[in-house]
Amino acid sequence: MNRIEALNALSAQIIGCNLCPRLVQHRVKVALNPPKRYRDEEYWAKPLPGFGDPYAKLLILGLAPAAHGGNRTGRMFTGDSSGAWLVKALYEIGCANMPMSVSRSDGLVLNGVYVSAVVRCVPPANKPLTSEVENCSRYLKAELDILRDVKVVLALGRLAHNTYLRVSGLVSRPFKHGQIIRFDGHSRILVDSYHPSRQNTQTGRLTWSMWINVFRDASRLAR
Ligand code: SF4
Repeated sequence: MNRIEALNALSAQIIGCNLCPRLVQHRVKVALNPPKRYRDEEYWAKPLPGFGDPYAKLLILGLAPAAHGGNRTGRMFTGDSSGAWLVKALYEIGCANMPMSVSRSDGLVLNGVYVSAVVRCVPPANKPLTSEVENCSRYLKAELDILRDVKVVLALGRLAHNTYLRVSGLVSRPFKHGQIIRFDGHSRILVDSYHPSRQNTQTGRLTWSMWINVFRDASRLAR
């Protein structure tokens, strides 16, 4: 099986996953109670596989699908404000063919980048349980095995940082926005950023210049 076939097989496995009863219930419940602006839309309401370039050198690791973003559109970081920040930054560093991410069929193509998340189903209050993170880590591990060209992992937030360290068998290190971590005997570099959630971007905890600088660093290291 080549890596494209392996990623397709993994995607099918993820989409059919029902391992976390609380999240299986929540992803459907959210879809049954959309805000007015999405009332006519059919929600995805299933787990989300990663997406992007199978030969990516940069892996972006987010937290989980947004209730009315990925859980609605069926693609990570698509149709919400976090996705808007992510794809605009990828476009600015030359890794996306367009600056927006609005639907699964919008024509977005990523070049050299793959986008994934710690948990593939929307969690209540954006807070997955430890057991849910552990359940879902098998898919991140599988992706990291398939995406052999990844040189840099950009972790969006503390949970992504900690999960990457655990899944890769690396020693614990504190999370810090903007830091670049190299590990002895491990070929991949970890870069940390605050997650582009509204809570961070609207409070100024994460500004556009802080965000784009992290992407410029990650892109330089991945080249
Ligand atoms: S969070 Fe992950 S492990 Fe849990 S049901 Fe969704 S896809 Fe499966």
